[in-house]
Amino acid sequence: MKIGCHISVGRGLEQAVLRAIELGAESLQVFTKNPRGLRPKKIDHQDATKGVDLLQKHDLTLVCHTPYITNLSTPKPDLQEVTIRSILEDLHIAEAYGSVGAVVHCGKHVGEGEEYGTKRMVETLDLILEQYDGPVKLLLENTAGQGSELGLTIRDLMEIRAATRFPEKIGFCFDTCHAFAAGQWRGETFDELLEEMERTGYLEHLVAIHFNDSKAPFASRKDRHEKIGKGEIGSEALAKFLVSDKLQHLPVVLETPVEDEREYADEMVYLHELRREGLAAAGQEG
Ligand SMILES: [Zn+2]
Ligand SMILES: [Zn+2]
Repeated sequence: MKIGCHISVGRGLEQAVLRAIELGAESLQVFTKNPRGLRPKKIDHQDATKGVDLLQKHDLTLVCHTPYITNLSTPKPDLQEVTIRSILEDLHIAEAYGSVGAVVHCGKHVGEGEEYGTKRMVETLDLILEQYDGPVKLLLENTAGQGSELGLTIRDLMEIRAATRFPEKIGFCFDTCHAFAAGQWRGETFDELLEEMERTGYLEHLVAIHFNDSKAPFASRKDRHEKIGKGEIGSEALAKFLVSDKLQHLPVVLETPVEDEREYADEMVYLHELRREGLAAAGQEG
């Protein structure tokens, strides 16, 4: 299990990977470009090559995240076009960075209703993926269900994947905070969640975990990340992810609120402790 955190890529990929190594991360996530903007970005291939070399040398796993402001379900043709162009670009950046996938949030139906929003999301995904044949998977992230967000449940996510013409190009990223806020799991129901992931086939397409506690209560449909152990989910419940033998092959990435990335160093140490304690309690070798 590769425990890591989100790192700023403002000074390039190489610097981001160096920072991750310095903090003791085994995996990292970076934005493909400014998360609140969609301005096209030129890939600095020299920087990308140096970054990828470092990733390989230190055996780090990289996950890319696309900007928040795209909307796969937008009813507006101009916004749909911008979304398609932007996410295609993100896939190419993620490829140059040697990323295992590009995380994208599910669509928002913005008042048009879930049925329309889902249909539109599938349509937009098809328009993106028919233009991309590279190795990077587009990773659909489950949402907290804030506003008109789609994609709260494992079942919905699997249905969206199956409805596209390119399911083989789609994987998943599971966010612990979003799923809790969407009422999809809590400590007591972890085993059921994992069972559902397996039964539906979701687990075999799961590529990354966003590991966050939640400031907002269970089923509140509010997306508010919190540091591990300081929120409504709690460290005992979250530790179940770290210990589960079904999830050990995945990168686990912190997106918890920090004022300075250096705070992640301590939080990752804490995660390793939780994992060791959990494994010892389960009577396994750490
Ligand atoms: Zn997330
Ligand atoms: Zn979130």
